[in-house]
Amino acid sequence: MTPRADETRARWLATLAEFRRDFATPTNARHWSASLETCSRDELVAIQNAKLAALTPFLYENSGFYRRRFERLGLLPSDIRTVEDLPKWPVVDKVEMMADAVEHPPYGTYTTMTDAVWADRGWMMFSSSGSTGVPRVFRYSQLDREHWAWANARALHSMGVRRGDTVLAIAGFGPHVFVWGVTAALAHMGIPMLPGGGMDARARANVIARFAPTVIVCTPSYALYLGRAMQGLGLDPATSSVRTVLVGGEPALGIDATRERLQALWGARVVEFYGCTEASPHCGGYSCPESVSAGGVSSHLMEDVQVWELVDPDTRQALPLGQRGLTVCTCLNSESSPQLRFLVGDYTTLEATPCGCGRTHMRALGAFTGRADDLIVLRGIKMFPAEVEQAVRAVPAVGDEFEIVLSTRDDGLDVMTVRVEHPAHAAPADVAAQIAGELRSRCEVRADVQVLAPNTLPKTEFKARRVRDERKPLR
Ligand SMILES: [Zn+2]
Repeated sequence: MTPRADETRARWLATLAEFRRDFATPTNARHWSASLETCSRDELVAIQNAKLAALTPFLYENSGFYRRRFERLGLLPSDIRTVEDLPKWPVVDKVEMMADAVEHPPYGTYTTMTDAVWADRGWMMFSSSGSTGVPRVFRYSQLDREHWAWANARALHSMGVRRGDTVLAIAGFGPHVFVWGVTAALAHMGIPMLPGGGMDARARANVIARFAPTVIVCTPSYALYLGRAMQGLGLDPATSSVRTVLVGGEPALGIDATRERLQALWGARVVEFYGCTEASPHCGGYSCPESVSAGGVSSHLMEDVQVWELVDPDTRQALPLGQRGLTVCTCLNSESSPQLRFLVGDYTTLEATPCGCGRTHMRALGAFTGRADDLIVLRGIKMFPAEVEQAVRAVPAVGDEFEIVLSTRDDGLDVMTVRVEHPAHAAPADVAAQIAGELRSRCEVRADVQVLAPNTLPKTEFKARRVRDERKPLR
């Protein structure tokens, strides 16, 4: 390592430490770090600028990926010292990171750590959940995991998770960040956790009955599945000990019909973590007591540890506040993986007015309902699986599972078939017409609807796979 690499590392670590306020315990009942979460927008920008000025030299001196990019763009670290300078740096996308991982296996060079630093720090590995291409792996150093625990504790505090709660965390405990990030935060907060991996729904229902967790953490699909499984066992989730359902991994809060189903099924509040491996260590979006209110649904962002921007999906140029676009995140909370303008790629609109909860940080209006990668394009009509989900769940008594099948007819026309379960499957015309009507009005798409008997479609265990694309390529 060069002296400049060491110097810039020391400065970055000192800057991280300087702004890690209220590390161990919350300031008050509403805000874990009141001085960070309720500061003025000017102070927030000053924190972001102080971090950026230390970050860009650190990236330049310590990451091959970033050094080459600076050189290719003809930029120096001193060109990017403030949030206003950020648009000079074209967004980094998954494809570019994947190419780096292929060229420099197995870890890529988008990290700032050398083997010696890794050996000194210790680490844990996570990987992107992308279903295609080379998995991009991210190692979080022990220091990163401390910052992660702190930032996620602030988010959980905002959601009302407190000492006195007991949390059942249901996941496969594979290399996905979501439940591990919650686990780190719970340990930091001194809140007990029941690990709910490696068991079936019946066993998990027993854990709930015997050990009375007040919070469950899982994907929204699994929360629906588990609740129904409990009903099948003669247990009522709505009268169980669970008062908060914390979901992540798939959009839920912003899909009214899904959120309302979860609330009714569990008799509980639904709160959400939303983010991605690359922009960690921190969840990204998180709920507050005002996240679901008369004014609509929103999700907070934590701007002292991340810079959030929206860009135009086609030009990838930064958009003014209030305009809908794709999320881009700069991570200011990591030693090993502080990415500069990573294209997370969720469609949303950002709002910077203070929230009713007292936080001054930006909110994503409507929360997050779909990543650009998941967009369905059918005969030129664009829609998200979440919009189809909203339409399907708007019709009473439709089962929790559904499937979207895209196929090509013999005459070459691409069509969409939505397969649902309903007790009235023997005389399905009415149900099918209602769902087709909802799809027409919400997604502006004509679709065939197949109404099946309950328990026909495969049950979702973790992340739901709703879309089956069997279209023939154009010839
Ligand atoms: Zn709020």
